[in-house]
Amino acid sequence: MLSIANPLLTWFYENRRSLPFREDPTPYHIWISEIMLQQTRMTAVLPYYDRFIRELPTVADLAACDTDRLHKLWEGLGYYSRADNLKRAAEVICETYGGELPADHGALLALPGIGPYTAGAIASISFGIPAPAVDGNVMRVFSRLYNDRADITLGVTKSRVTERVTEEMPQDKAGDFNQALMELGALICVPGEPKCESCPLADLCSAFGAGTAASLPAKSPKKPRRIQPVTALLVRSPKGWLLQKRPPSGLLKNMWQPWTVEEETDAEALLHKMLPDAAIERELQPAKHIFSHIEWHIRAYLVTCEQAPDFPGFVWADDMHAYAIPNAFKAYKDILNT
Ligand code: SF4
Repeated sequence: MLSIANPLLTWFYENRRSLPFREDPTPYHIWISEIMLQQTRMTAVLPYYDRFIRELPTVADLAACDTDRLHKLWEGLGYYSRADNLKRAAEVICETYGGELPADHGALLALPGIGPYTAGAIASISFGIPAPAVDGNVMRVFSRLYNDRADITLGVTKSRVTERVTEEMPQDKAGDFNQALMELGALICVPGEPKCESCPLADLCSAFGAGTAASLPAKSPKKPRRIQPVTALLVRSPKGWLLQKRPPSGLLKNMWQPWTVEEETDAEALLHKMLPDAAIERELQPAKHIFSHIEWHIRAYLVTCEQAPDFPGFVWADDMHAYAIPNAFKAYKDILNT
């Protein structure tokens, strides 16, 4: 054990950033902020967080929120399954716990979309339960503190770090301790070159002593992403833009998008099967979008159509502000908003 709690907490109380969910750390606030902060930077999250809490101030409001409106509130954050899981969990919380998040680590962990990190963050910050909250920041800090070159993508490494965090955690200040570790990882023990000269744990840090901090943490190289050709047709009629609802499972489930096929195809032939009177006006700039394991290479076409027949799974949208369009189509949003 390194006994990091005292110097870490002293540093945290002097340097903590004032954040809206930190100033009012209800379980709901911590939950929403932690889910938003997965895969998204703090500066990007803050305006979304403020708007989300203003529009949906309680768990019951979230449970009752229409999915399209929820997606609209989430538009731009990406990884929409996070929003879908929030709603599913809110429904369970209303049905099972009377609309309040349970003050129980195991019960939190059982909710949709809440993994060990988020459960630990809510339990410790909002309820004072001594539960660890180990995310990528904490993995990096502990790899360096122990000069541990084990691959942080392995479960066994995460278990070891979780044990070490638990051992260091003061039982009566678990929430502050977890936040202090996250804050240290975000501000001082940053990826690449850490700011060891400003670190309250430098005297205790093995990687600092060994001069190896910048090379940690160790992780195995990612598998190359699969390239997926995609053809998108932005079809405009007097009734608005043609939007297609994605399937209820899989990538971007239930989201609205321009008419899209996930293959490289002859756009003209595809168009004339469904909309024989439509005409391609021009090909648009190609775009690329990176998901975690897939890379979409999009060829898009602007199409005009005088008729606007109805098709199952499609709508003609005259008010695009009512629909959340995935970031994958960001390159075409200006056109869709005209
Ligand atoms: Fe990270 Fe440097 Fe602090 Fe060690 S001394 S914990 S490497 S910032």
